[in-house]
Amino acid sequence: MFPWTDEQIETLKSLWAAGLSCKEIGRKLGCSKNAVVGKAHRLKLQQRRNPNHPSHLITARLKAREAAKQIAAASAFGASLLQLEPGMCRWPVGSEAGQHRFCGHAKREEGPYCAAHAAIAYIPAPHRVREPKEAPRPSASAQWIEAA
Ligand SMILES: [Zn+2]
Repeated sequence: MFPWTDEQIETLKSLWAAGLSCKEIGRKLGCSKNAVVGKAHRLKLQQRRNPNHPSHLITARLKAREAAKQIAAASAFGASLLQLEPGMCRWPVGSEAGQHRFCGHAKREEGPYCAAHAAIAYIPAPHRVREPKEAPRPSASAQWIEAA
C-alpha cells in the first residue's frame, strides 16, 4: 500500500479538483493509478466524469444509433451500389441476395452520410484537461552511457 503523507493527500485533492486523470495524478505523486483511485475513494472525493468517456457523448451516440436503425428499417433495405446517386447516403445497412445495401437517404452537404449516420460516424473529440509537457526523461541508453 502506498504510504500517503499529508502533503501528498493535499496534492491529490488539488489535482483531483483540477480534473487531472488518476493516471496523471499517480505519475506526479509517484504511485499507481489504482493507489490514486483507492485513496480518492477513502477520502470520499467527489466522483468525476471520465473526460475520455463523457456520458453525454455515449448517450448521444446511442440515440443516434437507434435513430439510424429506425431509418434503415423504414427505408425498405436501402439502395444497392448501382442505385446510389451522388446525393445519397453511403452508410452500409447490410446485404440482400449477395448485394451490399446502403442507406440511400439524402446526404448532408459535406461528407458521404445523412444526418443520422453522420451522428454515428463522427463523434466530437472529448474535452481534455491538458497538463504542461514535462521535460523528456533520459532514455535507458542515455542512463547507461552516463553510468559508464
Ligand atoms: Zn444514412
